[in-house]
Amino acid sequence: MSRPSGAPVDPPSDRHTDGVEERGPDAEHQGVDFVRELVRRDNSTGTYAGRVQTRFPPEPNGYLHIGHAKAITLDFELAREFGGTCNLRFDDTNPDTEETAFVDGILEDLAWLGYPIEGEPLYASDYFEQLYDWAELLIERGLAYVDDSDSETISAGRGGYGKPGVESEWRNRSVEENLDLFRRMRAGEFDEGSRVLRARIDMQHENMQMRDPVMYRIRHERHHRTGDSWHIYPTYDWAHGQSDAIEGVTHSLCTLEFDSHRPLYDWYLAQLPLPGDTPRQTEFARLELTHTVTSKRRLAGLVADGVVDGWDDPRMPTLRGLRRRGYPAAAIREFCAFIGVSRTNSRHQIELLESFVRQHLNRSALRRMAVLDPIRLVITDWPEGGRKVKSTMHWVSADHAIEGTTALYERLFSAEVPGEATGDPMDDLDRTSLDLRTGCRFEPALGDTPPGAVVQFERLGYFAHDPREPMLFHRTVGLRDEWARLQQRT
Ligand code: ATP
Ligand code: MG
Repeated sequence: MSRPSGAPVDPPSDRHTDGVEERGPDAEHQGVDFVRELVRRDNSTGTYAGRVQTRFPPEPNGYLHIGHAKAITLDFELAREFGGTCNLRFDDTNPDTEETAFVDGILEDLAWLGYPIEGEPLYASDYFEQLYDWAELLIERGLAYVDDSDSETISAGRGGYGKPGVESEWRNRSVEENLDLFRRMRAGEFDEGSRVLRARIDMQHENMQMRDPVMYRIRHERHHRTGDSWHIYPTYDWAHGQSDAIEGVTHSLCTLEFDSHRPLYDWYLAQLPLPGDTPRQTEFARLELTHTVTSKRRLAGLVADGVVDGWDDPRMPTLRGLRRRGYPAAAIREFCAFIGVSRTNSRHQIELLESFVRQHLNRSALRRMAVLDPIRLVITDWPEGGRKVKSTMHWVSADHAIEGTTALYERLFSAEVPGEATGDPMDDLDRTSLDLRTGCRFEPALGDTPPGAVVQFERLGYFAHDPREPMLFHRTVGLRDEWARLQQRT
C-alpha cells in the first residue's frame, strides 16, 4: 500500500485509513509524495523559473484504463496545483496499431474523468519534420549512422548484462553516405527491415539502452494522421524527450520501466539545439490492481477473442468499462489521490477502489426495490389488522412491476495476481464471470431511471442502468464493504 498523496481526501471509512497507515511502506513522506517534493525543490531553486509543465502521452492503440487514470490524475493535478499546464499528447509514432477511433475515445474518456481538453490535442507526429532535421544534425556530427544489419544481428550485437556489445560493420560510414542513405530511407527507396538509423553512442556502455539505440525504422504503412508521407518512423526514445522539449515540458513523468531509458533521454537532449528548457524525466510506479490486468495488449486480446463484450464491457478495467459499470469519475480520482505516487511497485486491492465507489454511490443513488429471481406468490389468507414479523421478504407487486435484466459479475480474473501461478494471466480468466438474469421484476419507478444512472436495489447492491439498453442493469458493487472486512482480517 502507498500512503495518501498530497491531495487529502476522505477515506471510505475509518478502519480503512488505519489499515493503510499501518501498512504504508513509505509513510516517512508524511503525505507529500516524491514528485511534488521534487517540483517544490525545483521551484525553490529557480529551476525552470518556477514553471511547471507536464504532459499525458497516451499511445492511441487502445482505450484508457484504470492505470492511465493514475498517470492522468498525477500529470493534470500536479500542473494545476503548481499553476502550470498539462498537455495531452498522442504518442503516435507507430503506424501499425494506431487508430483515429482510439484518439476520439481517449478524448471522450479524459473529459469524463474530469480532464476535458480545450482546443486541439497535440501529436508526436506533429514533430516528425523537426525530429527528422535533428536526426540529420546528429548524422552530420557523427552521432548517428545508417545500419544495414537485420534486426537479429543488431540485437545480438548489443550483447547483454556483463556481455560487451560488438560494433556494427556499418558504424563508421562517412557522413555523406549516411546522409544519402537516410534521405533515401525517408523517400521510401528501401524495404522494411533492410536498414535503420542508429545513434552512435557507446557499444560498451553498461546501460544497454545506450548501446547505439535505433532511432528510425522503415515502415511502408499508412499513418492515421500523416497518411503516406513518411516511410520512416521514429522510435519512442527518439521521439519522446524531443517532443517534450518542443512543447516546453518541464517535468516528464512516466512509469518505472523507463528508468533505464533516462540516460538516453538526457543524452539526446544534450546533443540538440533545444528551443527552450531541457525537460527532465521522472519515473513512478505503475498502478496495478488485484484481479486485474492493465496491459493494453492483453485488454485488446480479450476484446478480439470475444471474451468480453467490447472495450466497454463492465468487467473491463477500461475507463469506458468502469463508466458503464456505474463507477463515478470522482470515485476514481479520489482513489488515485489516496493511493498516491511512489517509486515502489505495488498492487492495490480492487476492494479499495470499490470502497471509494460504494462511498460515492451511497450518497447519490436512489433506493429501489427489485427481485432478481422472482417467485410468484399469491397471498390468500392475509389476516385482517395487527401482525407478527418473523422475517422480512423482498417483494414487488406482480401487477405493477416492470420486467428487466440484471448482469451480475464475478472478477474477470479469479486469481489476485492474474498469471502468477502459470505465467499466463489467461489461465486465471473466469469465463463464467457474467451472470445474466432475465425476467427480473422491478418496482415501477425504475422505469424512470436515466440511461447510465446508478440506483441501489435494496439489499442487493448498486446497479447501473445500461447507457443503451433500457431495463438492463449492471451490478456496480455489492453493499458490503469488502475492503473494511479485509482490513479487519490483517
Ligand atoms: P500498456 O502497457 O497498457 O500499453 P503503455 O504505457 O504502453 O501501457 P501508453 O498509452 O503509452 O500505455 O501510456 C500513456 C501514459 O500512461 C504513460 O505515461 C504511461 O507510463 C502511463 N501508464 C500506462 N499504464 C499505466 C499504469 N498501469 N499505471 C500508471 N501509469 C500508466
Ligand atoms: Mg507506451
